[in-house]
Amino acid sequence: MRLEKRIGKWLGLKAHRVRQVRQEGERLVAEVEPRGGRLPRCGCCGLRVRRTKGHTPPREWRDLKMRHLALVIAHTPRRVVCPRCGVRVERIPWAARWSRVTRSLVRTLSGPTRALVKGLRFVLLKNPWNQTPKQKQALSRLVRSNNPLSRAWYLKEDFQKFWDYRQEACAARHIRHWLWWASHSRLEPFKGLARLVREHLDGILAWTRLRITNGALEGMNNKVKLVSHRSYGFRNDDRYIEAIYHNCGALPLPPEFEG
Ligand SMILES: [Zn+2]
Repeated sequence: MRLEKRIGKWLGLKAHRVRQVRQEGERLVAEVEPRGGRLPRCGCCGLRVRRTKGHTPPREWRDLKMRHLALVIAHTPRRVVCPRCGVRVERIPWAARWSRVTRSLVRTLSGPTRALVKGLRFVLLKNPWNQTPKQKQALSRLVRSNNPLSRAWYLKEDFQKFWDYRQEACAARHIRHWLWWASHSRLEPFKGLARLVREHLDGILAWTRLRITNGALEGMNNKVKLVSHRSYGFRNDDRYIEAIYHNCGALPLPPEFEG
């Protein structure tokens, strides 16, 4: 089977096909184009759409390695005019929305790597001198498969545990440990997040004691925005403020408006 066809099959393409595969340095780039006679689908609601309106800039999705080269899917999505949603980007069947990796890559990773990382979560949190030989062996297996995605997955999973702590001291120990891992992860987004968490650490730790969220505040904020949307904006600030008081303050209406 030709390589183009094999990649198309691997991605599960139906309304698209792989036009050509070329090698670019360390990368294998598979160019995907729409198959003739097939209507694109709206990326928002999935409806088949007849009208298109130009293209978005070219995009790339990462896939597994093939012949020791990183396989990259290149495609220039069309903009479709959906009768329900308006102008949207066509649906990309081989990747989730906003995703930069293909579904097939996610599928492959969610199998063995996920199981491997899941079993090791507590091993990684243990001090090295407390680990059993079996745990040490498992850890070295992870280090060998040490790829950015398994690190990111581990960090994401591990951060979630913070919300279960009831005692501030335990939560603080957990989060310091996490911060160390995140800032040594060689993953820029996690390093950024670690900086942010460090700056707000006092406030975040206070949550274990107080359990207060900003949910109510966000709700009020939405309500205020709705007042403005519903009126299509206000000409001056005073009218806007009055409308907010009337909508959120449960004020009585003037007598001439009642009844
Ligand atoms: Zn739509």
